[in-house]
Amino acid sequence: MVHIDTLQHYFEIAFDYLDAGHLDSSSHRFAQLKDPDLLFLGHDTMLVSDVKAIWVEWFVHSILDLKRVNQGRVSGPHLAKQVMDGLEILTPGISDNRREELSKVLVPLILQRRRSETRRVSYSLQEKRSLLINSGKPARCWICGVPFPEWAKDKFLRREHEAKLPKFGDVFLRRGLKPRDLEVEIEHRVPFSAGGTNSIENLALSCGWCNTGKGDRKTIYDPSKTLMSVYHPMIGTFLAPCRFWIVRTLTFSSGCVTCGATTSEHELSVYIRNSGGVPVPPNLATYCREHHPLKEASVLSLDGFEQRRLNT
Ligand SMILES: [Zn+2]
Ligand SMILES: [Zn+2]
Repeated sequence: MVHIDTLQHYFEIAFDYLDAGHLDSSSHRFAQLKDPDLLFLGHDTMLVSDVKAIWVEWFVHSILDLKRVNQGRVSGPHLAKQVMDGLEILTPGISDNRREELSKVLVPLILQRRRSETRRVSYSLQEKRSLLINSGKPARCWICGVPFPEWAKDKFLRREHEAKLPKFGDVFLRRGLKPRDLEVEIEHRVPFSAGGTNSIENLALSCGWCNTGKGDRKTIYDPSKTLMSVYHPMIGTFLAPCRFWIVRTLTFSSGCVTCGATTSEHELSVYIRNSGGVPVPPNLATYCREHHPLKEASVLSLDGFEQRRLNT
C-alpha cells in the first residue's frame, strides 16, 4: 500500500523535474525517491537498468566508434591508444592514473565484445530440424507464440514451398502483412553484442515479424516510434502498439492475464486496458487468443484494414 501523501510527494517532485527542464537540482531530488510499485507495475528495475545500459553505451560510443571496432578496422594496440586519447578529452578532471585504470578495464571488454561478434549466417539442415523440434508442437515463435505455417517451415528446411499470406491478421500484432513476417528465423536469445554464443541452447526460432522488431530495439522506451494508426470497422480508429518491445515487456512477466498462458504453448497478443489512453506498457494487458477482449474481432481481414505507421 502506498500512502496518499507519499504519492503526492512523488508526483510533485516528478512534475517539478519535468517542468524544470532536467536541471541538476530537481533531477537529484527525483532520483533519490523510492519508486512506488503502483506506478511501474513491478517493472521498475527493468526501467532503471535500461536507462543505465543506454548511458553506458553512450559513454563507450563517446570514446570511439564501436562499429569500426567491430568491423575489425581498429587493432588492439590502436584501440588502447584511442581509448586513452578519448578519455583524456572526455574526463579532463581525473588524474592520469585513474584514466589508465579505466582504460585497462574498458579495452579488454571492448575487444571481448568484438570477438563474440562473429555472427553465424548458415546452419545445417540437421541443426534446423532439431531447432524446429525444440520449438514446441506445433513449432512456435518463442516471442509471440504464433505457430509457424507449413510453407514457412518448408522454406526454412529448404524444401519446395509457396508463400501464402493468411486472409486474416491480428489487429495488435500486425501480422501477415508481408510473407517475410511469417517466415521462420533463427535468433539468439542472448544477442552476440551482449556476449551470447552460437550454442544450440542460445538459439531459438522466431517469426520474421518478431525478429525484425527485436534487432533494432535495446530498451522499451520511445513508444511513439512504434505506434500505428489503425482503422477497425468495429472500434474505429486507434493507435496500436507495434512490434516486439511491448510484447516482450508484458509477456515476459505474466502471460495471459486471465489464464496465465505463455508463449510456449499459445499465441499471445495485447489489448489496450484503457481505450482513452495511449497504448504504452502500463496501459496494455496480454491475452491468449481465447481470452482476448476483442475475441474474433482482434483478427481482421487483411484487405479490410487501413494502416499507417507514425513517426518512423
Ligand atoms: Zn513472433
Ligand atoms: Zn488466456
